[in-house]
Amino acid sequence: MQYTGVMIRRPKRLTWRKLKIAIGAGLVLASLTIVWLTGLASLRITLAEAETRAAANLAVQTAVLERLLDKFRLLSPLLARGPEIARLVHEERTDAEPGIAAIAAGMSGAEEIWLMDASGRVIVSSQDSVPANAIGGSQTIPNAFMQATQGQLGRELIPGTPGTPSNYVFASPLRRGDNFLGVLAVRVNLDDVEQAWALSKDPILALDGRNRVVVSNVPALRGMTADNLDPSWNVADLSLAGRMQLLLPAAGAARPYMQLTASLPVLEWKVRTLVDIEDARQQSGWAMLVALLVCVIAAGGIWFLIARREDFVREERRNRAAALRLERRVQSRTAELRRANTHLEREVGERQQAEANLRQTQAELVQAAKLATLGRMSAALSHEYNQPLAAIRSDAEIAEMLIDRGRAVEAKGNLTRIGGMVQRMGEIAKTLKGFTRKSGTDIKPVSLRQVIDEAMLLLQPQIKQSGFALSMELPQEDIIVKGGRIRLEQVVINLLSNALDAVQSRPAPFISLSLARDGKEAVLEVADNGPGIDEEVLPQIFDPFFTTKDVGAGLGLGLSIAYKIVHDFSGSLKASNRAGGGAVFTMRLPVADENILAAE
Ligand code: ADP
Repeated sequence: MQYTGVMIRRPKRLTWRKLKIAIGAGLVLASLTIVWLTGLASLRITLAEAETRAAANLAVQTAVLERLLDKFRLLSPLLARGPEIARLVHEERTDAEPGIAAIAAGMSGAEEIWLMDASGRVIVSSQDSVPANAIGGSQTIPNAFMQATQGQLGRELIPGTPGTPSNYVFASPLRRGDNFLGVLAVRVNLDDVEQAWALSKDPILALDGRNRVVVSNVPALRGMTADNLDPSWNVADLSLAGRMQLLLPAAGAARPYMQLTASLPVLEWKVRTLVDIEDARQQSGWAMLVALLVCVIAAGGIWFLIARREDFVREERRNRAAALRLERRVQSRTAELRRANTHLEREVGERQQAEANLRQTQAELVQAAKLATLGRMSAALSHEYNQPLAAIRSDAEIAEMLIDRGRAVEAKGNLTRIGGMVQRMGEIAKTLKGFTRKSGTDIKPVSLRQVIDEAMLLLQPQIKQSGFALSMELPQEDIIVKGGRIRLEQVVINLLSNALDAVQSRPAPFISLSLARDGKEAVLEVADNGPGIDEEVLPQIFDPFFTTKDVGAGLGLGLSIAYKIVHDFSGSLKASNRAGGGAVFTMRLPVADENILAAE
């Protein structure tokens, strides 16, 4: 099996991490550059200052040397011209008169003045005794002696050693007329210059034409060649590269010096000073340190801002993500709600439809119930009327037949029965009429005791026939209600006759009638120990024409009429079953206001 794979490469993106590394590196680089440039600039400034100072110092110190030599340059020709000196040499009275030379030397400040004869022998010296190893004579200053014999101003340097300072000699010819008598030489000790230079803290060297240190405020250097100085006199290279090295000195490197040179053209000498630039270097070091600190602070600040920005960006990204999530949730919730709404709308539609169906079914049921009621009513009425009608017809036929046969007296009994039946039919019609009568026409205070008494009176024959006594429970005080006496009597009669019907087949029949007052209501109860009422028929018991009795035995109007009468008088009628068996009917009527009764 062979697999082919496609590699998906994400586009290269400069990640924040990489960017941070780049920024960090940039900051470090920039800081180093700034520190470096600061060091260089500071070094340049401090070196320039040192150079200016040293140049001024060098000019002053060079002038000291120049002035000294200038001063003595003129002294030897001046003294040589004096007649005294020439005579002295000519007469060779050297032993007698060394004083002039001494006076001249003392007055001018020259180290020594010599008078030499033509052969170059020192005949007079300003110093009292000429020591055996004393310098002097043409051997000491051959060049100057030669130049003087040739009539020029002779010059000669007597180089010093680390122990002895250098001397400079000016020599002039002594003449008398055209005769060359000898040479007058003035020796100047350059120690004076060195003493003047000693005030300067930087080393100063005077170099002769052969680059030899002739005069210096550092005696150890005397006699050395300039190229060959002590390595501790490290003359710094002040080019850019050299300056960079100065900023980063190697461990154990010698102190750096800056070299400044001025020339003395007359003598072909050079005066050089070596300026210690360690201070300048240190100062630059401090400047670099300060710059480094500033850079560190600035870079820290920039880094902090970058970090803050990163936090901010992260926070913003988080917020955006949260907002997106929220939006998605809202969208999904909205969709859910929309779905639920549609569902509800559908359900409402279905319910409305069901309600409409129910209403229609109810209407149909009502219609069916009406038709059933009508059917029951027709059956009951036709039976109630057909039975007496049939009896009337047969009685009428019998009466007719009896009269035809001349037995009119016998026919009388039939006619009397016919009359009774007609009366019964009239009573049925009266009952129906009572059912349709409008309510509230003749309402007045009625004594319930009176109603009960009269109903009992009317029912007396039936009660007697049943052969048992009614249990009566009546209050001491009569209860007055508002209503129609006859109609209330009809209610009581209906309830009692139903109870009589119910207990008919019982071995120990029992009927009780009670009247009581419950607050503002009069309560009349008729209870029996008959079969009671079936729970299923209980809701329909007050319906017109509802009966459980046989056809002809009941019209099913008694309770419905009673219900209607009680409701017309703002009361209530309820049927229920007793716990011990049998039914109980409870009639409640509001008690008539006593004030109204008084008024009436
Ligand atoms: P009728 O007496 O003509 O049947 P009613 O309206 O007076 O009409 O009564 C309706 C039905 O109520 C009766 O058929 C009977 O079934 C029931 N009923 C009324 N009173 C009682 C009672 N005390 N005990 C049991 N059933 C009763």
